Amino acid sequence: SNKPKIVVLGAGYAGMMTTKRLTQKLGQEEADIILVNKHNYHYQSTWLHEVAAGTIDVNKVRMLISDVIDTNRVRLVFDTVQEVKKDEQRVVLENGELEYDYLVFSLGFEKASFGIPGMEENALSIESVDKSRLISEHIEHQFARYSSGEETNDEALNIVVGGSGFTGIEFVGELAEKVPELCRKYDIERSKVRIINVEAAPSILPGFDEELVAYARKSLEDRGVEFRIGTKIQECREDAFIVGDDNEEIKAGTIVWTGGVQGSSILDKSGFEVFKGKVNVNGDLRVPGYDNIFILGDCSWVMDKENDRPYPPTAQLAIQEADTASDNLTALLRGGKLEDFVFDNKGTVASLGGSHAMGTVFSGYKLYGKTARAMKNVIDNRYLFMLGGPKLVLKKGKLRPF
Ligand code: FAD
Repeated sequence: SNKPKIVVLGAGYAGMMTTKRLTQKLGQEEADIILVNKHNYHYQSTWLHEVAAGTIDVNKVRMLISDVIDTNRVRLVFDTVQEVKKDEQRVVLENGELEYDYLVFSLGFEKASFGIPGMEENALSIESVDKSRLISEHIEHQFARYSSGEETNDEALNIVVGGSGFTGIEFVGELAEKVPELCRKYDIERSKVRIINVEAAPSILPGFDEELVAYARKSLEDRGVEFRIGTKIQECREDAFIVGDDNEEIKAGTIVWTGGVQGSSILDKSGFEVFKGKVNVNGDLRVPGYDNIFILGDCSWVMDKENDRPYPPTAQLAIQEADTASDNLTALLRGGKLEDFVFDNKGTVASLGGSHAMGTVFSGYKLYGKTARAMKNVIDNRYLFMLGGPKLVLKKGKLRPF
């Protein structure tokens, strides 16, 4: 057809919500909408630590894209993006090509190893459904090997986690719940299994409120998590982290890196100007010099003008950007005025496993324990509601009271 073509790359938070909003805002005759994604399912990246620990069913975390996006309005293309030829307005896929008039680039995050020797090759990472599931399967395999006598070294049961950011802390929280369960299943004493979190910064959860950080640390230590704070990882070997100035070796059968993420490597491959793994976009979320390309979510830096630094990348940010991007695309098609993105921070809650959690809501109000856990569920269910209404909340929501 000769309708303008909008191509959305990536069905994560940003891509799904942009597509959803476009189908709500635009008439059928106004544009062709195409959504490209590696898989036929959308998953919640913010629940991947649960997949990695094995505390949630994989199918709870994902949903068929066609269950929530109107396929009469949107053409779904399940393929892997290789490169954007931005000067030719083409997208190169593994199995084909697409032309576009407008592009929304939202391919999310990838692991960043910061050049730590061996990290890329030897550490597992919480990056996608499949990579996260590999972690829980790997951990269980270590327990099975040990209990069967295939493995006799206690250290094979150790789990080391690099990085005490949001992901690292949420992950060790899940492990604190999962490990006792695995110990019962495989008849292994809990005291034989160590969960060790290693962080170079002087504190866990840098940037978080001190009281909340102290609460999180105690909650996790009480459930058997060990912290090595202010400890730099020098090297990652197949069976150990080498840490600190004295090159101490911490052996483990499971090694996970959560210490850094960057935007999709397709940005760099496509010749976008990349700063610290992401592209700086204008206030209206478009790429400087490319009036028809929006970059959203974990692939871009958007300036917070009030604080003179970019907003930290979160799902909450990606979802809100989708609103502005879909409004601005509508304006472009209809000849209206574009708006600048403004973030409305609704707070952040970190789960610490089971009924444990902490965080802030409503500009700084602190929550702990079960109340925080309940609020976390409200936040997650709200997203599902926006995406697929009450039906999706019932199917994929977190409804279990703690
Ligand atoms: P994503 O949600 O990562 O989506 C990217 C999509 O693109 C995926 O579907 C992927 O399959 C697809 N894709 C990637 N590459 C290709 C390709 N080459 N071709 C085709 N498709 C491709 N944020 C919060 O706000 N609150 C939280 O509590 C929170 N907890 C988190 C916990 C964990 C364990 C993690 C890992 C992150 C957490 N975050 C949280 C951060 C949040 O998940 C990210 O900021 C968010 O996912 C970014 O959304 P996005 O749309 O940019 O990308």
